[in-house]
Amino acid sequence: MSPITAAPTAIPLEAPRLGEPYLLTPGPLTTAYSVKEAMLRDWGSWDGDFRAMTAELRRHLLEIAGDVDGEFDCVPMQGSGSFSVEAMLGSFVPKDGKVLVLMNGAYGKRISQTLTYLGRAHVDIDKGDYMPPRGHEVAAALEADPEITHVVVVHCETSSGILNPLKEISETVYAHGRKLLVDSMSAFGAVPAGIADFRYEAIVSSANKCIEGVPGFGFVLARKSALEEARGNSHSLSLDIHAQWDHMNKTGQWRFTPPTHVVAAFLEALRIHREEGGVPARGGRYARNRDVMVAGMRGLGFETLLADQWLSPVIVTFFSPAHPAFAFDRFYALMKEKGFIIYPGKLTVVDSFRIGCIGRMDEHVMRRVVEAARNSLTEMGVDTAAPPAIALEERSRLAA
Ligand SMILES: *Cc1c(COP(=O)(O)O)cnc(C)c1O
Repeated sequence: MSPITAAPTAIPLEAPRLGEPYLLTPGPLTTAYSVKEAMLRDWGSWDGDFRAMTAELRRHLLEIAGDVDGEFDCVPMQGSGSFSVEAMLGSFVPKDGKVLVLMNGAYGKRISQTLTYLGRAHVDIDKGDYMPPRGHEVAAALEADPEITHVVVVHCETSSGILNPLKEISETVYAHGRKLLVDSMSAFGAVPAGIADFRYEAIVSSANKCIEGVPGFGFVLARKSALEEARGNSHSLSLDIHAQWDHMNKTGQWRFTPPTHVVAAFLEALRIHREEGGVPARGGRYARNRDVMVAGMRGLGFETLLADQWLSPVIVTFFSPAHPAFAFDRFYALMKEKGFIIYPGKLTVVDSFRIGCIGRMDEHVMRRVVEAARNSLTEMGVDTAAPPAIALEERSRLAA
């Protein structure tokens, strides 16, 4: 795992109230009490106060992306994260464009499926459940097909937790004169994804991931030149990024009813993000969450799907134990009783489950997660969490 240098957070992390469990899930996730509290008033969407909130949200997100020269703009879009991904694809890929999709999990597959719905030509590199797409594979695909105009990749593929090699991919894409679109949903805000970190035309994330807001909208950060060129591309009235951008710049308003309370909560989440120390501190806290949790789980005999090099500070996939007394549903229920909601796995070959590291929690909470896992195993009569041999064979393919 990468060495973490950021100082521990200075902000006390209050426990969830009213007996709420911690959400060890990649969004919705556990939010600060003040984020929830920010939703306790109503806002008129047309009113100047709310327009100022929208402007502040856009400005702050551009600041996080490091847009010092005003080359980029931020366009928020109603709906969950997938709505923003669909809006990005439909708006930035022209109708006669062709996309290379880099897939290594469920979210990459969703991108390919979305392009099929949109009627955009695309070819896919499918690396299966979790193998990372590499620069040389992208180069070969781009050299073989001069019609490809855009490449789309998922930054952190949340289905396995792998952090894809974005720098290598971006360099290859631009060396071949093509354009990159990024789904950084579960990474932006905690993993470096600014415009100086790697080149892209547009990147998308949403309110309820590493900024630690509540669900209700996503946002696209895009080059102004790409936004200009996006005019007239979209298949959809409501998901037209260019139209939303143009209208927001002219009126300060969203085109259709905005999620006012969600925006208010998000501004508080952004304030906390800054106070904590921005991307390095947020990423540092999540990485410590991961390191403490993974070390503790390995101590119980659990094994991670991914080698340390590929583990993201966002979510970690563990193989289910081979022990005959282990059943995920029971493990889930026992963990929930102890105050922790975990996440089922998404691997097709072997059984697995996932534990998220993001949200309003720190390494002390993660130690309690490991204790809860230890006690849950004991209650189930599972004396070792070692995975079946086939799981380890599967994993050795990744190392090869
Ligand atoms: C969460 C997420 C999305 C969006 O999912 P929604 O359920 O639509 O919010 C897209 N891509 C990735 C990588 C994600 O983690």
